[in-house]
Order: sequence, then structure tokens, then C-alpha cells
Amino acid sequence: MLIEDENYYFKDGNCVFRVADYLFNIHRSLMAQESPFFERLFSLPQPETHNQKDGFLEARGISADGVPDSNPISCQDSVDSFRALCWGLYAKPIEVRAQDSPESVDLQRLVLLADIAHKYECRSLETWSTDVIQAHWSVDFGTGNATPTPRDMWTLDIIEQLVTLSIKNDTADIWFKKQIETQWLSCGIAKSTNSSGLRRALDFVDNLKIPRLRGLAYYHALKRVGLFSKAGSISDFSEIIGKCSIMDDSLSDLTREQYLALMRGLWCMVSLRCHSLSNMAFTRRRPDCTWHSTCQGAWSNFWTSYNSVFDFGEMLELALQRASGPNPWGSQARCWTLLKPEIEGMVNVFEENLSTYFDLP
Ligand SMILES: [Zn+2]
Repeated sequence: MLIEDENYYFKDGNCVFRVADYLFNIHRSLMAQESPFFERLFSLPQPETHNQKDGFLEARGISADGVPDSNPISCQDSVDSFRALCWGLYAKPIEVRAQDSPESVDLQRLVLLADIAHKYECRSLETWSTDVIQAHWSVDFGTGNATPTPRDMWTLDIIEQLVTLSIKNDTADIWFKKQIETQWLSCGIAKSTNSSGLRRALDFVDNLKIPRLRGLAYYHALKRVGLFSKAGSISDFSEIIGKCSIMDDSLSDLTREQYLALMRGLWCMVSLRCHSLSNMAFTRRRPDCTWHSTCQGAWSNFWTSYNSVFDFGEMLELALQRASGPNPWGSQARCWTLLKPEIEGMVNVFEENLSTYFDLP
């Protein structure tokens, strides 16, 4: 039994779409104007039965005798997504304006719209919805750091959908993409309050199949559960033996694969720490450094000061902060300014390799 959509089955519409059990009757000219995809589609010849190679169309558009419902265009989208698209096409100015206010914005609908608009090449709708989302985002997270108390509208659901969207469509700018990831790591993992929350986050990232983000997620899970501090607080032999079976309530909902991946990562990270950066040669040199004989020693001391930090990622983070500050090596040892870019490069290599630490053989 097919149902005519309450809002988007226009009696004078001239193109019927079927989405699940719902029928939408909308206006071709409006869609063609918005999207080159639909423009192409409507300009195709309409034989008796017609299969589009794009795959989402199963039937021809409208029969000439005015019985459109008998042969609608089938779409594989969700009903909510298609409604969001129709909303975007038909929204009144007052509804459009309402999206600018945090009190009346419908983020869920905007995320669905940005996604489906991308799929059907509705460029202006995609740009508009993405811009509105990003503008609200900037208000709450504009500082670049995870905000301790973001407004309620940024639910974990919405943030997950934004992560998926930015990866799938690859249209978000780099800054926004990075921010979304950071926020997801914060809300989904760092602030997860129990084992099922952690499980949800790891399931989500396992399904995304983006190695870099998966590595970061598992790494943050290790931090969240406090495994680094547990590893660092060992004081006697019996404790060392006991720590071999780290299993507490915060991990109880994880699958066996997730648990093993975490343990493998922990093992890798702890061994990483043993390879001291202080022994690494400082190969860079600024041509105007007039006191270079001290630079290698200063570099070694710089890293030695982090000997007690168990978490390699945290150590790089602390080092980066310090390297952004004033030069403690003395005004003649100008190579200090090379430290920051050097460590930034190290952070990138570290984050890219993280994923391999949590891969199970
Ligand atoms: Zn130097």
C-alpha cells in the first residue's frame, strides 16, 4: 500500500518518486533548475520501460495519460532524506531564515539535506546546508579545541553523521573535517561514561574503514580507560605480573577483536616509549645558527625531560606546546625554531602509523 506524502505530494506536480512506501509528486522544472543530474534525467527519452544505468532508477518517469503513480521513479534513499531534499527545494524564506538561529535550526534535517543534495548534484542546496551547519559549528567550537559543554543540539548522533558525511562526500574543508574528528573523539570516546559507550564508538569507527581515524579512536580509547596510567603506576613485581590481564568493567562490552586490538596497541605504545628520542641525531641546522655546537645537546635534554611520560602521543603533544613557546636555548642557538615543524612532522607520522598498532594480524 503506497502512501502519498503529507507535504510533498503536490496535486499539480509532474514527477512522481517512490521512496520506500511513500509517493512524492514534485515539479520537474524546479528539480532540473537545481540539479544538472535531474536535468539530464528529465531530458532522456522515455521509452515504455526504462532502466537507468545509474541504478537508482527503475522505471520511467510519468506516463502520458496522466496516471503517474503507476510508474514512479524509485529511489533507494531513506524517506527522511528525500523529505529533507523536498524541504530544501520548497522551503519558504521564513523557514530558511529560521535555520540561522540556534533555537530553531533543524540540524538533523540539514545533515540529511547536505548528504542527499551531494548525491543528486544539487549544488546550491549542498553549499547552503553545509554553510549553515558550519556557521553553527564555528560558534560553539570555533576555538579549535573541544568545547567542554557544547550546546545540546550537537548530539553524538549528529556528530557521527557529520563524520560520515565529511568522509563520504569529501566536501568539507580541512579545518572543519579536523574539528569534527576532534569533537567526535571527545564526545564519543573521551567522554563516554561506560563500556557500552566505548563499544558504540569503536563499532562506529570500525565500520567507517578509515585507518587513520580508527587508529586515533583506539588510541583515545586507551587513554579513556586509563591504561597508560595503569601501566605507569606499577610499583612492584607482583603488580607487573598482575597487569598482564588488564580487564575491567570499562572494557566489558567490547568484542573480543576490539579488546585484542586495544591490547596490541597498548603493547606497541609502551614499547615505543623505550626508543628514546633523546638519542636521535638532530640533523637540521639553521644557516644563521651561530652556536650550533650546543643544539644537539639541547635537543637530547629536551626529550630526556619527558622520560616519565608513558603515553607517546601525549609526550609529542607536550613537546609541541613547549616548542611553540620562547627559545630557552639562547638567542644564538637559533635552531630552536626548527623544533616546532620537526615535531609537527613527527605528530603526523605518529598519527598515520597509529592505525597499524591496533591492527590484528
Ligand atoms: Zn643550531
